[in-house]
Order: sequence, then structure tokens, then C-alpha cells
Amino acid sequence: MKECPLCETSFELDRIKVVDQKGGTHILHITCPSCKHAVVILVGVTEMGIGLVGLLSDLNYDDVRQFRSKRTITQDQLLEFYHILQSDHISLVNLLTI
Ligand SMILES: [Zn+2]
Repeated sequence: MKECPLCETSFELDRIKVVDQKGGTHILHITCPSCKHAVVILVGVTEMGIGLVGLLSDLNYDDVRQFRSKRTITQDQLLEFYHILQSDHISLVNLLTI
């Protein structure tokens, strides 16, 4: 994901924060410099290859870090996350309830 899904402003790489990385899964967080929407990006290796999914979020960087400290995302959850992303109206709330 190189640009904001809402306003299509290009992201500068140095604005992307790594929330966590473990076992080949990276969780990244960026706040759009233009529309100020937060985007959480989940990058991981699955049976389908390297996957990259992003979602809009109201959570700030610290919120996401708190979430990460409580939960460990497995590859199964990552796959499940893919399926959820195929439906409409995605939010991080959905991810939290997996
Ligand atoms: Zn934007």
C-alpha cells in the first residue's frame, strides 16, 4: 500500500511506523498526512504467498500497540482476516473480535 485509500495521497516511507513484527508478520501503522485517517497495514506470509492488507482505523499508534501486546496473530487469523476483508465495512473492531 503506497497511497491513502481515501484521498490517494502518496505515503512517505518514513512516516510508516512498525507496530510489531513476529514470525514473518508485520503490522504497520501510518497516519495520512493529508486527510489524517489512520491506516493499519498487516503484512504476512501465508499459504498464498506474501500478503499485504490494509484497513482504515480510528486507532492511533499507541492503541494498536496496546492491542498487539494482548494478542498474538497466527497465520490462521491472518487468513481469516483476508476473508473478513472481502466483506464491506471493515474496521479494526472486526479484527479484535477474531
Ligand atoms: Zn488520506
